[in-house]
Amino acid sequence: MPTYWLPDLPYDYSALERAMTGEILELHHSKHHAAYVKGANDTLEQLAEARETGSFTPVAVVGLEKTLAFNLSGHVLHSLFWKNLSPDGGDRPIGELADALIEHFGSFGAFQRQMTTATTAVQGSGWGVLAWEPLGRRLIVEQIYDHHGNVGQGTIPLLVFDAWEHAYYLQYRNVRPDYVMRLWDVVDWQDVAERFATAVSSSRSVGM
Ligand code: MN
Repeated sequence: MPTYWLPDLPYDYSALERAMTGEILELHHSKHHAAYVKGANDTLEQLAEARETGSFTPVAVVGLEKTLAFNLSGHVLHSLFWKNLSPDGGDRPIGELADALIEHFGSFGAFQRQMTTATTAVQGSGWGVLAWEPLGRRLIVEQIYDHHGNVGQGTIPLLVFDAWEHAYYLQYRNVRPDYVMRLWDVVDWQDVAERFATAVSSSRSVGM
């Protein structure tokens, strides 16, 4: 039985058309995300085989661990991305998340500009991420390469923006900033706020 599976979207493929066409969302979910799920399961299977046969060469392990990190992280980030977005999204956060964004970034606008720039300025494929950093107990923006590079260890992603070309190219062509601008219109701030509350209350700093 596979460890990972493709989650259903909490809305129809056409539901996020304020930001992306149904065609893009269907391909993104049913093809790209599905491939990361399969990749993670296949890699776990190959690691199990290597344990059974004792065929653990350093080169094989390096390749398998890297492939596991890529596919597992792709699965995690896409699962989060779908939940972060909603046809009823947009506007701005309220409550404790809003206060924390002001505390750690100066203002909502300053956070939004940093997150937008982190996403649009990814070199190649990657993500812009708002994350909770448990050691400093603060919010930070991360710029992730592929799905797993340039990450602060132990950080908990709360809001993720996919900057891979497959997320926007059919609609926005090479104009990634227009796509990112529209993403803000479908952010489900209630989902982000719940993740923030859970991260703050459950995370124990690794240094304590
Ligand atoms: Mn993607």
